[in-house]
Amino acid sequence: MKTATMPDRLGYYGEFGGKYVPETLMAALDEFESAYKKLRRDREFRAELDDVLRDFVGRPTALTEAKRFAELCGGMRLFLKREDLNHTGAHKINNAIGQSLIARRMGKKRIIAETGAGQHGVATATACSLLGLECVVYMGEVDMARQELNVFRMRLLGAQVVPVASGSRTLKDAINEAIRDWVTNVRTTHYIIGSVLGPHPYPLVVRDFQSVIGREALGQLKKRTGALPDVAIACVGGGSNAIGLFYEMLKHESIRFIGVEAGGRGRNLGEHAARFSGGALGVLHGTRSMVLQDEFGQIAETHSISAGLDYPSIGPEHAYLQQIGRVEYYDCSDDLALEAFHKLSECEGIIPALESSHALGWLLRNGASIGREKIVVVNLSGRGDKDVPQIAALEGK
Ligand SMILES: *Cc1c(COP(=O)(O)O)cnc(C)c1O
Repeated sequence: MKTATMPDRLGYYGEFGGKYVPETLMAALDEFESAYKKLRRDREFRAELDDVLRDFVGRPTALTEAKRFAELCGGMRLFLKREDLNHTGAHKINNAIGQSLIARRMGKKRIIAETGAGQHGVATATACSLLGLECVVYMGEVDMARQELNVFRMRLLGAQVVPVASGSRTLKDAINEAIRDWVTNVRTTHYIIGSVLGPHPYPLVVRDFQSVIGREALGQLKKRTGALPDVAIACVGGGSNAIGLFYEMLKHESIRFIGVEAGGRGRNLGEHAARFSGGALGVLHGTRSMVLQDEFGQIAETHSISAGLDYPSIGPEHAYLQQIGRVEYYDCSDDLALEAFHKLSECEGIIPALESSHALGWLLRNGASIGREKIVVVNLSGRGDKDVPQIAALEGK
């Protein structure tokens, strides 16, 4: 099957994806899917979304040539797609705004979300504040302590942040709790998932809202270089910024795609979030994909220097793209990401998010094999301001 026609009617990308949810949620997923199918072709809805993306989010985002950093990578024409310049500092707002607009059209006045690092929670709280929707964000207690500033931000924006004390008290436990809430309040509530994860139609909806990234980048590159990129690179947590950059480009056979996962601090289970080299087929949070798990199928702990990349599973469309060999996936260690974080800051005047630094780290290590004449685009998924306190503590300054 061509990727352009993915997923199939049941929400599968090959053997990945689907809808693995309790019966009580099937009706809500159907309602969401039919509302979305209608709205994605609705001219008034598209215009409303475009207006908010332009006037509130700040789209289109810039495409910046990074000449000095490119030299450190072996030399190439390197362009950064500047999702860090979006309101709230990352690509997550593209999806949060889109889904909030759908929720309002469905007559749902209450929004729930989960958040790990707090970035998706902040984006959702922001969208709800703009549109006058009630917002409840589930967050693990460990993450709340690690990301105090984002907890405070969400509360300033009028959201209720609910601490989750079960399990490892991190993202996967927050998702479990959000699903529990949704089962109970499904009539009044829409659940906004923050990446290309979860049961169908979420991976499709989130991809569509993020695909604006690649659509803009193709147009901007055409104008600047007269050509298509040779290589497109993005970091992969759940996979939304990567699929956002890649999706509109996949139809061009000449483009090479690289997704970069969190290599963490070692190869053992628990030391990284590299689902392709360390995971196996499994079901987590409503979708079938590659999952980091132990020999009994219990979900493994993960580690990454960047909170946004340490999810134990990956979007089902990425699992498919990997299987058919259309996208290559590699990982980048904590140390290499940190090196790229510093290098980009020092030579381009841009402090990147630690997540995005993984894509840059891969290029720093492997760029020399690409060729000086090649055009490379990297998705700069977010800005690093949020990571500065963590890095200052880590480096003892
Ligand atoms: C959340 C986040 C990511 C990882 O999520 P994806 O769905 O894989 O994009 C990457 N970069 C930034 C800046 C983030 O906030």
